[in-house]
Amino acid sequence: MTAERLQTSAGNNVAVVPSIEEGTVVLRVDIDSLVGLRFGVPHLLDLFEHYGCKACFYSVMGWEGDIFSVLRHRIWRRIFRSPHYLYARDGESTQNARSITRSYGWGEILRMLFFPRKFSRDVNILKDIIERGHELSVHGYIHVKWNCMTQQELEREVDAMLQAYRHLFGKIPLGFAAPLALENDITHQILASRGIRYTSVLATESVYPYRGATRSGGMLYFPVFVRCAEHYIPPIEYFSRFHPVEDPAGETAKLIDDAIDKFGWASTFMHARNEGITYLSSLKQVLGSIRERGYKVRTFEELYNGIVRQEDSSSLTTGEMA
Ligand SMILES: [Zn+2]
Repeated sequence: MTAERLQTSAGNNVAVVPSIEEGTVVLRVDIDSLVGLRFGVPHLLDLFEHYGCKACFYSVMGWEGDIFSVLRHRIWRRIFRSPHYLYARDGESTQNARSITRSYGWGEILRMLFFPRKFSRDVNILKDIIERGHELSVHGYIHVKWNCMTQQELEREVDAMLQAYRHLFGKIPLGFAAPLALENDITHQILASRGIRYTSVLATESVYPYRGATRSGGMLYFPVFVRCAEHYIPPIEYFSRFHPVEDPAGETAKLIDDAIDKFGWASTFMHARNEGITYLSSLKQVLGSIRERGYKVRTFEELYNGIVRQEDSSSLTTGEMA
């Protein structure tokens, strides 16, 4: 990989020469439904243990949504738009009411809206993720709020999310993944100012890690680039539901193989509720293919530490005095 190619892939941002070992695969799991947390995560932990791989889990720290957040952020403010709101790029299309009622069912939706339950109350499952050697980072406080937010609301969301994590684990996490891919300079500046060290990004064309060209330059960005369609759909879900094919696992494994051939590594994602329950058997086949080909499954936390170590040692060897 030449520096020139890296620079191009990261656009205006500063490319980071990746200390990513050839054949690395990163698996990101978003936990943004209570059913996914309570029933999907235990399945995933067993499955990952069986295949000897570590994943990065990004959990909502508050709850999915409640009637007030839904009315304000997903209905009212989408009709009465304002330049003060930060809009999620894919908030309009994939999260429409029809797709939500189809995948959740009315019973679960009514429970979410009127009886929201904090994910942090299922602390045993969250702790289990860490105890079994995986990364646990964060994915917002109230998931449904991540569209049409003002900057102040976004700051309050980030603070509530980090406070809840600190309350459980005595520290803040290293990483973050934005609900609905609501990623922009403002989000990144707020995260960087609170001590988040990296973000796992769907809304980017890059296929290599990079540092932001903005004031949040201290943060690292890890693209999740094995995804489907413009609206950032996880491949197994895409090939099972949006564009059904006979062998969703085979198609997903092929995308991972292609990424490794072209870029040396692959990063993909899934939802605890979907791949941890509905598409569990497809995920099992994909993990089998990953093991068969001898790819090494790493977390973003491990890649972050590797890159920081590499940067530290190269600034020492070049004798940087300034
Ligand atoms: Zn999410």
